[in-house]
Amino acid sequence: MPQSTQPVHIEPFSRAVFLASSGTPDQFPPEGVPEVAFLGRSNVGKSSAINALTGRRRLAFSSKTPGRTQTVNFYDLGGTARLVDLPGYGYARVPVAVRAGWDRLVGGYLSERRSLAGIVILMDARHPVTPQDERLLDWLRPLRVERLVLLTKSDKLSRAARSAALRTACGKLAASANEAMLFSSSDGAGVEEARDCVIRWLRSAGGSRK
Ligand code: GDP
Repeated sequence: MPQSTQPVHIEPFSRAVFLASSGTPDQFPPEGVPEVAFLGRSNVGKSSAINALTGRRRLAFSSKTPGRTQTVNFYDLGGTARLVDLPGYGYARVPVAVRAGWDRLVGGYLSERRSLAGIVILMDARHPVTPQDERLLDWLRPLRVERLVLLTKSDKLSRAARSAALRTACGKLAASANEAMLFSSSDGAGVEEARDCVIRWLRSAGGSRK
């Protein structure tokens, strides 16, 4: 926690620029400023969410080729903070070697990164909290960082189905104390709220994990 009473300045998300793409933990850029990471199943809408949060069209983009080399992508916010795009999980056809690489890469990032302030976990609003998501949440449980679950593509659901999805997700997440909100990169639902939440984490992080 910062000792100063001055609010920590975080550059607007719209100034985010690509910083680095790392295929192994030893390629991660040196730590320094607080980071918020984005994690979710492949195709869940993670790249679209990062683009929506930063108001950019193609800052982040996902590979549509299962098994392609996976990287952790870092986006810099004027040297004050970073957004970190972790590779998606859950492609059934991914070769075992690639899956092991994912574990090393993402596991390495999440367990070692002292500047990690929070994790945004993305889940499809149409299938909230799959068994695979639950395993991921269990795995994240010991990490002492903030977390927020975004229920993506909520525009694809009717109003009633959206409320039901949120209720289901909140019920399933209650045990792990994760907060969930509906989110759509297409119609903008939840974008401002999610951005405010991430900025709050970055401001209060002060650059290091407790
Ligand atoms: P990623 O693999 O998790 O990075 O997923 P992408 O952001 O590339 O999105 C996967 C697919 O879902 C693409 O075809 C997107 O156009 C679509 N998509 C992403 N977000 C939304 C959304 O909020 N609403 C709708 N309807 N489609 C979305």
